[in-house]
Amino acid sequence: MQTKEEYSKILIVDDEKINIDVLVNLLKPYYRTIIAKNGVRALERLKNDPLPDLVLLDIMMPGMDGYEVCSRIKDNPATRDIPVIFITGKNEENDEARGFLVGAVDYITKPFSPLIALSRVKTHIELKRRGDMLERLAGLDGLTGIPNRRQFDQFLDAEWKRSLRYESNFSIIVMDIDFFKLYNDHYGHTQGDECLKKVAHSIFNSALRTENLTARYGGEEFACIMPETENEDALKIASQIIESVRSLKIDHAQSKISNHVTISLGLATVDHPLKDNNIDPVALADKALYQAKQKGRNQIVNFNEV
Ligand code: GH3
Ligand code: MG
Ligand code: MG
Repeated sequence: MQTKEEYSKILIVDDEKINIDVLVNLLKPYYRTIIAKNGVRALERLKNDPLPDLVLLDIMMPGMDGYEVCSRIKDNPATRDIPVIFITGKNEENDEARGFLVGAVDYITKPFSPLIALSRVKTHIELKRRGDMLERLAGLDGLTGIPNRRQFDQFLDAEWKRSLRYESNFSIIVMDIDFFKLYNDHYGHTQGDECLKKVAHSIFNSALRTENLTARYGGEEFACIMPETENEDALKIASQIIESVRSLKIDHAQSKISNHVTISLGLATVDHPLKDNNIDPVALADKALYQAKQKGRNQIVNFNEV
């Protein structure tokens, strides 16, 4: 038996109370429902965790209309995976097509059959649940397809322990795209996502060796773990990575240091680590990255702890 906390959560956005009441009554037995009476309030609601698993969205509302709300949901990396279903009185073919164009997964016209609406909601909630699970199990990042933070953490834990046991050299690079906020502000989030994907693949391929793991560490941050790798070899890989991103030549009109997208890298190698020294290799690489940013970005800072 599910507790109410485990129920999937649905955000209903509509400016008319009667429409909201109908939907709430229909969905209440199966889902938790939250309500927003206009587009601005809906976007406010999407700033707080936990996020809803589905949005039911009216189109004609005073102020910001449903198309605009949907576009904004899809433009924001934090909310773009939430499925949006339009429920609307607008029933022209063009209206529906436009709904799909802005990123909706389904379109229900009013008046609707309760059973059909409920079935469609159930289908999309189930698909969302499976997608989330698959991503978690596969350890892959949904946007870029490279390993995610979870896989990174597991690999780091296992490999660092192994390095301590055998006192074998351990190298790690953390990297971060330069002026990426300005990139998003200038080119928009959708193009920002495309840029992230290209940079991720370029980094991943440059560091490709069976013993390495390259992951998306956070928003526009990546990391590469290189077990049993001495500093000289790790520095070669870091140089390949920075060069591969430069050679993508992705325009970045707002960057303060280049016409193209660049990254900064922090590299740390711990030679023959000892348990008693209590070294944190990620913290070292982070510190190196911080210095690379301070020194003007688009460069590698290299720490070698002996
Ligand atoms: P710096 O050179 O100091 O690293 O500056 P920055 O602007 O890159 O750093 P900041 O941390 O200020 O901004 C990071 C930006 O990355 C803000 C955030 O919107 C964006 N971002 C994070 N994840 C994603 C994503 O998945 N998609 C898109 N498009 N942008 C993202
Ligand atoms: Mg950055
Ligand atoms: Mg950052």
